[in-house]
Amino acid sequence: MGRYTDSVCRQCRREGEKLFLKGDRCYSEKCSVSRRAYPPGAHGQGRRQKPSEYGIQLREKQKTRRIYGIQEKQFRNYFRKADRKQGITGDNLLVLLERRLDNVVYRLGFASSRKEARQLVNHGHFFINGHKANIPSMLVRVGDIIEVRESSRESNKFQEMKEQAAYKTPPEWLSVDAEKMTGTVLAYPRREQIDTLVNEQLIVELYSR
Ligand code: SF4
Repeated sequence: MGRYTDSVCRQCRREGEKLFLKGDRCYSEKCSVSRRAYPPGAHGQGRRQKPSEYGIQLREKQKTRRIYGIQEKQFRNYFRKADRKQGITGDNLLVLLERRLDNVVYRLGFASSRKEARQLVNHGHFFINGHKANIPSMLVRVGDIIEVRESSRESNKFQEMKEQAAYKTPPEWLSVDAEKMTGTVLAYPRREQIDTLVNEQLIVELYSR
């Protein structure tokens, strides 16, 4: 599968806003969007044209993909799946993205960014309902219990995470026991419980062209 290898901060600068892809750095003054609030590249500081309707829709889709760290093909598959489901397609799409295991690990506070969560999942540090879960795109279900692998719990990384997770509040659809390093999926998220700042309707319009 293709992988984005350029600086992740360039992605934020391209979208002109913070996408929070780097964990703690995003909240510090080192954030590239704060320091260089213009698009990357040689013409980044040049005159900007008014974007077309298509351009606005495209940017919204790219932004959402970048926030969740998903390649175009897979993102389109999520859209197709969302479109086939009952209900509002845009809401369905966001719910699917939120249900990804890497996102849930991030939301539970066991990783400082989705990128880090993805790596931790890939390296086999998590179990779901007692079974190894090392595929970041796995979709969690209501009632699933996500836990840090026992042999990983004492590592410095997870001890640090444990302390941080204790101060974080997960979204209402998840519960976390930072001490035991476990989290539970209480329900699927409703749109209003998803704080990702995207206009999913623009994505629906883009793919419906
Ligand atoms: Fe984006 Fe975070 Fe980099 Fe700032 S520090 S540009 S929010 S990834």
